Amino acid sequence: MERLRITELLGDGIGPELRESVHAVAAALPLALEFIPVDLSLAARRRGGSAYDLAEQSIRDTRIALKYPTVTERESPNAVLRQRLRFSVIHRPVLSIRGISSNFKEDVALEIVRVATGGTYDDPGQRIGEDVAVSLRIVERRPCTEAARFAFEYARRNGLTVTSSSKHTIQRATDGFFEAIVREVASGYPDVRHRVELFDALLAKVILRPHDYQVVLVLNEYGDFLSDMACGLVGSLGTGASGNYAFAKDGRIEVAMFDPAGGTAPDIAGRGVCNPTAALLAFGLALDHAGHAALGNALRKAVLDAIADGKSTADVGGKLDTRSFTGVVTDALADALV
Ligand code: ATP
Repeated sequence: MERLRITELLGDGIGPELRESVHAVAAALPLALEFIPVDLSLAARRRGGSAYDLAEQSIRDTRIALKYPTVTERESPNAVLRQRLRFSVIHRPVLSIRGISSNFKEDVALEIVRVATGGTYDDPGQRIGEDVAVSLRIVERRPCTEAARFAFEYARRNGLTVTSSSKHTIQRATDGFFEAIVREVASGYPDVRHRVELFDALLAKVILRPHDYQVVLVLNEYGDFLSDMACGLVGSLGTGASGNYAFAKDGRIEVAMFDPAGGTAPDIAGRGVCNPTAALLAFGLALDHAGHAALGNALRKAVLDAIADGKSTADVGGKLDTRSFTGVVTDALADALV
């Protein structure tokens, strides 16, 4: 059996229940998986000192990590990890899930690739006197190039088109620079269709014709807006997962961290009723990244089929608790893999 070592960043609230679900599913895979836990819970972080050091060391060692939800008290663990590991690209697939109701009739399957740094988010800005406030908008070549390469590689591997989107006609220097970098990268992928769309038009068109869009490549703040809008279209902010990537100088992915959307859900923590879908989808992305896309696909199919069959947890209208839902997924996966 092939071996795979994954750092696990333990969190708060429903984190332990999500972890139990991931481990149950992992046991059904034909892989010798070794999870290396690092405690990033609030208690561990409050003790001070080494929690983040240990996390960073372990992620650099295994080069792949799965992170469970963490409480933000003083610092945001996600922001700390992003800075320490220099994550520059976020990949956020947003998919309709049959069986989860939404106000939107069409199916959505967007692969949002977002520059994870800069834009307007690295500078809180400052007030100038009573009546004016300013902030810096930062667009850097390196993360834009990394995001564009990631988007085009992903599109090539999966036979998809890339749409880059910004307000380059107005933000000529910043967004114009971004689109120029994307065009430069795109020229190395003549087999991948690329088009450019103004971001305001994109929002309308994704709603009007979601099937026209596959990989969407955007700067930080646009990615933030688009991800939440797309999640709203599929009826849930909490069922998706994302991948965070940091790159070596030669352009190869150096480390990757996968995490479920959604928070620590303190109101239901410890009751065994949380929905592990997002954590399992995060695990699926980790499997894809580690070169086991067939297993990632089988896991996604098992999760999505279970929900479509109404075998789901209460938050999405089902009657199962976390363990029973995980059992359905694990059984389906085991059947699919024989
Ligand atoms: P945090 O401060 O960590 O973001 P929160 O409670 O403010 O926690 P969420 O954790 O996103 O925010 O929870 C919002 C609501 O969604 C809560 O009622 C919670 O119980 C529910 N929820 C979140 N995640 C899940 C899940 N995996 N399964 C079931 N319900 C969930």
